Amino acid sequence: MFISEIFSSKKGPVFSFEIFPPKREYPIESIYETIEELVTLDPDFVSVTYGAAGGTKDRTVEIAGYIKKRWGKPPLAHLTCIGAHREDILRILDELSALEVKNVLALRGDPPKDGPAEGGDFKYAKDLVHFIREQRPGGFCVAGAAYPEGHVEAPSMACDLINLKKKVDEGVSFLITQLFFDNELFLSFRDVARSLGIGIPITAGIMPVLNAKQISRMVSLCGASIPSALAHLIARYERDPKGLHEAGLEYAINQIKGLVREGVDGIHLYTMNKPEVAKRIMAEL
Ligand code: FAD
Repeated sequence: MFISEIFSSKKGPVFSFEIFPPKREYPIESIYETIEELVTLDPDFVSVTYGAAGGTKDRTVEIAGYIKKRWGKPPLAHLTCIGAHREDILRILDELSALEVKNVLALRGDPPKDGPAEGGDFKYAKDLVHFIREQRPGGFCVAGAAYPEGHVEAPSMACDLINLKKKVDEGVSFLITQLFFDNELFLSFRDVARSLGIGIPITAGIMPVLNAKQISRMVSLCGASIPSALAHLIARYERDPKGLHEAGLEYAINQIKGLVREGVDGIHLYTMNKPEVAKRIMAEL
């Protein structure tokens, strides 16, 4: 099933979970126990990252295929194009098709830390979107990433939005945002996107803050700003990890409730492979 069909048929927000493949030293089955628990929460789809934060790339296709086969949930396979050649992408698309995985999140990916990516046939995610649409017409529902506070490399928010529109125009069916902690930023981003003619569903990426180390890592990776209410919580529970965990969950729950009130198209929960966190959040909604 194309995930775009869920967006057009479901009344109310589409709920999805993101998981990442286990590192090579762990058996692939270790993630299946996590997904088994997540699926009991009845998400509309489950997404599987591709080499994010140093993780493995080669397990994404297999895990996405297993989600479809074992649980019948539509998987969304992330796919990055930085440094990739056309034939690499075609091979992965064919592997996905063979496993009946029909949804792809088309991403550029991050350049290596030690310099720009060498070679490869694609410059931006929009080139990957174009390529998938051209080479496998009708074969995939293609999603794209969006940044409510602008992508870290973009010279300005306006520039990033213009680039986003170009990507969407290549054939993106829905967008998933980078995590954010300030709903106002998301809502004004959504307004501007709509005014630019981006009419496809925009699903909001939410990651609960569970510990101080995670916050600083996330902020340095994606540049998400910390609103004063959250900064206050972080300071208040500086020496109380359990308290911060609870307060972070509550903050995420309130964020989601606020977005649902604002008629958000979807909520995409970055689960960090922690089903207990997703369970707690879904129980409160
Ligand atoms: P693009 O859309 O290509 O944008 C990248 C930059 O190029 C932006 O600054 C944009 O403004 C600029 N740009 C785009 N088009 C043009 C143009 N025509 N001219 C000039 N500039 C342009 N990474 C992984 O490695 N694996 C994952 O599984 C993964 N999952 C993710 C899931 C989500 C929901 C999100 C939000 C991000 C994810 N990422 C993942 C991170 C992502 O790969 C990085 O944020 C990456 O730096 C940008 O990818 P993109 O697809 O948004 O790129």
